[in-house]
Amino acid sequence: METVTDALVMRNFGEDLRVERVVAKGPAPDEVLVEIAATGICHSDLLCMSGNLPFPTPTILGHEAAGTVAAVGTGLLGSYSVGDQVILTFDSCGDCNSCKTDHPAYCHDFTSRNAPSDLSDDGKPRLHMATPDASPVWGKFFGQSSFARYALVSSRSIINITASCGLALPREELQYLAPLGCGVQTGFGSVMNSLGVTAGSSLAVFGAGAVGLSAIMAAKAVGASIIIAIDLVESRLALAKELGATHVLLNSGTTLAQDVKDIAPVDRGVRFAIDTTGVSSVIEAMVQSLGLMGKALSVGMAYANPELKIDINQMIMSGQSYLGCIEGDSVPDKIIPRLVEEYRNGRLPVDKMARMYPYTECNRAIADMRSGKTVKPILVW
Ligand SMILES: [Zn+2]
Ligand SMILES: [Zn+2]
Repeated sequence: METVTDALVMRNFGEDLRVERVVAKGPAPDEVLVEIAATGICHSDLLCMSGNLPFPTPTILGHEAAGTVAAVGTGLLGSYSVGDQVILTFDSCGDCNSCKTDHPAYCHDFTSRNAPSDLSDDGKPRLHMATPDASPVWGKFFGQSSFARYALVSSRSIINITASCGLALPREELQYLAPLGCGVQTGFGSVMNSLGVTAGSSLAVFGAGAVGLSAIMAAKAVGASIIIAIDLVESRLALAKELGATHVLLNSGTTLAQDVKDIAPVDRGVRFAIDTTGVSSVIEAMVQSLGLMGKALSVGMAYANPELKIDINQMIMSGQSYLGCIEGDSVPDKIIPRLVEEYRNGRLPVDKMARMYPYTECNRAIADMRSGKTVKPILVW
């Protein structure tokens, strides 16, 4: 089966995305063809566009989508029906020790399954430009490459919410759920899984973008009593307060660590902290802001200089730890149905941090995200 679709193609690093016509052949036996309703834009997309993670072009990015099943691969006929509503997430193998022990974000094949692939079959591309030369396009970014109206999606990247939640959502509601599969589960999972934030405890969130705001909503849900949001953009801090932050700090430069500590004196600093910025100086301030037995977590990839200076003796004498985590160490088919329920119960108002754009205005959406004007742009198809 051939599907001709509009897609946002990255021709070269550092350039705007282009709306182009692309042909998708499939689904293969272990794939589902999904009609995408909406795709969130995530910082990893911007990281790839800037060329920080080099791979071949032209490529279709996009890895935070919601949509409906349009066609089912022959190996998956019992699991999906045409019209099922789905949320897309990262891919994993399901067989390695990480996958078998409920840590699919650390799948041994994570990189190969989530980096763009050429989707060739017998040497012929299954994803190519709708031009006479049918030149190949790289796809399957995070198992989906969902910057397209139709996407060929790996089976383990699909969460079937019709099956797991028994839902038939209005289209606009489904569109708001697009970021659940990356940014929102990263923030939620960081709080619930990686840090294990507890009721009555303190948490500092460095960077109030979509991941940071999701962490704040999760911390509120578990009953943390001090939730501090730190950012450079005042409007984001106002939103952080609305979503559950008890304190906000407009980046206070050299006194940042002490300013955070002063808000949480009970343990001589915060018990938990998350950095979403990937900026070394901010991460160092995060570690310095920890109190006794404090745990700090990096979830924001570094654009440059991924190195830190940490005072080992302080860590030992205070029983502190510094961790990293990807995708909130989430098990998507467990956490995403829960996040859908949280959204429907009003405890996860992702719509407050999102702004919809027609997919044809993708480059304006990206510019608004880079400037801080929009926290979470969602492209509507
Ligand atoms: Zn992402
Ligand atoms: Zn695996």
